[in-house]
Amino acid sequence: MRIVPWNLISTWHCTRCGICCRKYDVVLKLPEWLNIVKAFGVEYTAASISKFLLRRRADGSCVFLHWTPNVFLCSLQRTKPKACKLWPFKVLDKPGYGSVNDAEYHYGHRRLFVYVDPMCPGLRYGVPKPEFVYSVIPEFIEIALGVRHKQFKTTANL
Ligand code: SF4
Ligand code: SF4
Repeated sequence: MRIVPWNLISTWHCTRCGICCRKYDVVLKLPEWLNIVKAFGVEYTAASISKFLLRRRADGSCVFLHWTPNVFLCSLQRTKPKACKLWPFKVLDKPGYGSVNDAEYHYGHRRLFVYVDPMCPGLRYGVPKPEFVYSVIPEFIEIALGVRHKQFKTTANL
């Protein structure tokens, strides 16, 4: 599926469906890998030729994913890797996919380009709602830029 510019999205809300934690590898930055190894052990991680990853179970799910009676939950929560915090958004400093105008987002003096992965069922298409534009997207941008670590709008309320 094609990556979509933010301006085609009305709202986004995580439904805790767990798809993103069962279908994809999570790439770790070196400090993230070190923190997970220290806290849980190296067996909670995996490695490819050039990347550190979170280990996945035989069914493909992340080792930190847990199923409660109704929803999937991440047992790392606030210490989850940046790649998990950013999903399903991508924040780029150059246009990457589709219409440039629909992806452009001005954050302070910065011109950024924001996209979403349509695999996430939490997306609703349509005219962007103010909360999405002025609260949700800026929080994803701040996480991408490394100026924010805590999540409020960019994850499910647990
Ligand atoms: S971010 Fe999207 S794919 Fe991941 S759990 Fe939430 S709704 Fe599901
Ligand atoms: S660390 Fe948490 S959010 Fe990331 S893939 Fe694993 S369960 Fe999902």
